[in-house]
Amino acid sequence: MRLIGDYHTHTIFSHGKGSIRDNVEAARKKGLKQIAICDHGPGHRLYGVKRDALFHMRGIVDGLNKEYGDIEVLLGVEANVMSYDGSIDVDDDILGIIDILLLGFHYGIIPKGWDSRFKFYILNPLSKLLPPLQKNMIAWNTGAIIRAMDRYPIDIITHPGSKARLDIGRLARAAYDRGVALEINSSHSQLSVENIEIALNEKVEFYINSDAHHPSRVGDVATGIERALKAKIPIDRIVNVEKE
Ligand SMILES: [Zn+2]
Ligand SMILES: [Zn+2]
Repeated sequence: MRLIGDYHTHTIFSHGKGSIRDNVEAARKKGLKQIAICDHGPGHRLYGVKRDALFHMRGIVDGLNKEYGDIEVLLGVEANVMSYDGSIDVDDDILGIIDILLLGFHYGIIPKGWDSRFKFYILNPLSKLLPPLQKNMIAWNTGAIIRAMDRYPIDIITHPGSKARLDIGRLARAAYDRGVALEINSSHSQLSVENIEIALNEKVEFYINSDAHHPSRVGDVATGIERALKAKIPIDRIVNVEKE
């Protein structure tokens, strides 16, 4: 299975180790045709990209696209779920300058409103210990992502099931209906083989991404491919691999 694009890489604009150029050059060396720069959304208190930096990054990405004819560079954001009503940390101005929008659950944000704060930081971890709570929490988490997909032009849900548990079947159905893909993330354990198998019951498509935080890891999707092969995904369901 040969990767043609890596749509989830981080740079020094959040907490990655390399510059945008470093990631792009690493991707070219690996023969990728596309790479997306998707730093953490500005809502992340510790290492979110600064909102204003995104406009500067747009210029860098445009410059690299002029410089290199053999690879296309996309500017994106890995946005954070900010509340259970499905708000995220990307506004219309940012939406106007990015090429791709990823969304995932992450700690390190301050959710909007006390209800969302309580659910995310108290009930979410507690639900791992208290099975009766688990069902509700999974429904709330999944509902938040689905509402976000209704409100924003999301392309990919990153590492679904990491950080916050989700009903993968319901998510996969809702994602397919809204033209959103699910990620097999090579730096996180999700989607797991088992969850890929559940998602395969729906018609949703998949991306296999590196989630590289260092240029040397750009395009490194070995563990993701391993899980995809174990789950026997038909190759035409994976967006970013060569089809023959
Ligand atoms: Zn993430
Ligand atoms: Zn990431």
